[in-house]
Amino acid sequence: MTLTGFIKTWFAIPSDRPQLMVAQARAYAAQVPMMYAIVLINAVALASTHYAVAPRWLTAGVVALLGCVCAWRMASWREQARHPLTAAVAHKRLKATMRAAVVLGVAFSAWSLSLFQYGDAYTQGHVAFYMGITSVICIACLMHMRGAALLVTLCVMGPMVAYFATTGVAVFQAIAANMAIVTVGLVAIMLKHSADFAALVASRVENDQLANLDALTQLPNRRRFFVELEERLDTARASGGGLAVGVIDLDGFKPVNDAFGHATGDRLLVAVADRLQNMSYPDLLVSRLGGDEFGLILQGDVSDTALHAFGKALCDDLARPYSLPGVVAKITASVGLCPLTQSRDLPIDLFERADYALYHAKGHQKGRTVIFSARHEDEIRRLSLIEQALRHADLEGEMRLDFQPILDLDARRTVGFEALARWRHPDLGDVAPVDFINAAERSGCITSVTQSVLKKALFAALEWPHDIHVSVNLSARDISAMETVDDLIDIVRQSPIDPRRITFEITETAIVCDYDQARSALTALRALGAHISLDDFGTGHSSLTHVRTLPIDNLKLDGSFVKELETSSQSQDIVRTVLELCRNLRLGCVVEGVEDQSQADLLRDFGAQRAQGYLFARPMPQWEVVNFLRAEMKRRTDEGAPSPTARPTVRAAHSN
Ligand code: C2E
Ligand code: CA
Ligand code: CA
Repeated sequence: MTLTGFIKTWFAIPSDRPQLMVAQARAYAAQVPMMYAIVLINAVALASTHYAVAPRWLTAGVVALLGCVCAWRMASWREQARHPLTAAVAHKRLKATMRAAVVLGVAFSAWSLSLFQYGDAYTQGHVAFYMGITSVICIACLMHMRGAALLVTLCVMGPMVAYFATTGVAVFQAIAANMAIVTVGLVAIMLKHSADFAALVASRVENDQLANLDALTQLPNRRRFFVELEERLDTARASGGGLAVGVIDLDGFKPVNDAFGHATGDRLLVAVADRLQNMSYPDLLVSRLGGDEFGLILQGDVSDTALHAFGKALCDDLARPYSLPGVVAKITASVGLCPLTQSRDLPIDLFERADYALYHAKGHQKGRTVIFSARHEDEIRRLSLIEQALRHADLEGEMRLDFQPILDLDARRTVGFEALARWRHPDLGDVAPVDFINAAERSGCITSVTQSVLKKALFAALEWPHDIHVSVNLSARDISAMETVDDLIDIVRQSPIDPRRITFEITETAIVCDYDQARSALTALRALGAHISLDDFGTGHSSLTHVRTLPIDNLKLDGSFVKELETSSQSQDIVRTVLELCRNLRLGCVVEGVEDQSQADLLRDFGAQRAQGYLFARPMPQWEVVNFLRAEMKRRTDEGAPSPTARPTVRAAHSN
């Protein structure tokens, strides 16, 4: 080994391991006051035994001087302890410690040895004892820093052993031998300890990485994201700099993952992570929040213009095809961004707003970026008002139902009605069903809403002809436990309505929460005789597995496909394919959201049997249903349709 190699191996500061440097500096800082205090007290004791026999300048003078140097070193550590201990700071301190180890080691040894010539055998013995015991405590305090501990050993123990070995006095030679042996033992313990310390720090670093990094993409994980957000938010507030939070959700990731396997899905996520990290923005932190969701922290210009430009560039970049082994995948990304506007915003506020903007992007502008705005703020405020109002509402009493007919396109007659909940609040006015249903789902009162809707719907259906069915919407929570399903079954059993006239509508989103439980729940409802429709089919998690394996009778094709029916050949293909699928699997199909005649004509050409939409009727109050059916019967009779007597007569409507 060369000399530089030797020095590097044994004395160098571990600048390639920043965490180790910080840990060493921290561990040593804790020992500094005690070490200098002992060194000084021992020096004063040695000076006092030599006070009468040695020159003043050597006893009082040098001790005062060395005392000042030690006090200055202690003060400088105290001062530095008030600043954050970064790797650079730790490096500076360790370097200073190495220097101090040499300078003070040499100074104290020279001073003690220079006292040796004065006094008698007792005072000489005190010098030997002082040097031995003091250097042992210094080496012990420097245990974590191999380099500095070895330097003290060399600068103090070396000269001392050499000096006493050459005194020619047998007692001092024996002391030299004792000290040499103790030094060897001490160095061995110190080397082992410093190696253990380095290994402990390394394993802590590894654990830290495991806890803070996403194993697949090596990006900071959700936990790290929030720690960073908190820190960066503090800095931005202090400096007045701009900051924005972003949440990204990939559209179309799941189908790639399902069709080509998890290995391909993983590669796709890594490729997305790479593209995100290569986005140009002054200061950008990219993190994987989980699944196909990524988080961003942007620092710099967060004006609307800058965020729009960034969002567009990001969406364009992520929408480029991905060349993966065996497949070229195409996905898009929806992005929600929220800039820091009020300095008192908490990290979670910013994140939730960005998430809300993302939710909007997914709902209305898939594959694009939405920036959180005052309009969204108003919506959130209204939603929270709804949530509060819902908590104090007597829903059973305040809620009423509208009914929208479902038609058989060939026979041009109503075959059933879907019950749609309506709630008017004294202060808030009419609350959109999606809003209060979502609020009820969040607050947990949805099961009582559903039970109330079911009771009211069954009661209303008592007035209808026996061949008209009634559809009731269920939420995820309604089927998430067998007890709630049993409550629904009890309501059906207590009603005189034939269960075969009842259809329960459930979305796939509600099913994916707990597939096995959903399956058992639907099986129980079907065993009762009721029918099951898969609602909003084509949006969300549409999967052929669900269609094939769940006990369902109908699909309700979402209205969004009908909206584009005349303009988009893709929508036409989807509608035709779903109708074909239903025919093959012997499932019924209701096409939702039919608004004009040309859509209805196209659907009939495609072979659609059943439809629902404003073209036929908007949702109507209960009392209008009977009139609606009467008018339909009359129209069909006038048009020469098969005799309406085939249908049991409509009884007079009860007032509700
Ligand atoms: P949904 O189950 O998909 O109900 C159909 C929605 O589409 C109804 O909106 C209906 O008014 C609307 N609609 C019907 N035809 C057309 C059309 O031609 N064009 C357009 N643009 N819309 C049409 P509504 O009543 O606002 O209900 C919205 C959603 O709220 C429902 O969607 C359902 O998910 C939920 N909902 C309503 N009542 C209940 C309920 O009692 N329980 C549960 N869990 N959810 C309910
Ligand atoms: Ca529905
Ligand atoms: Ca629907």
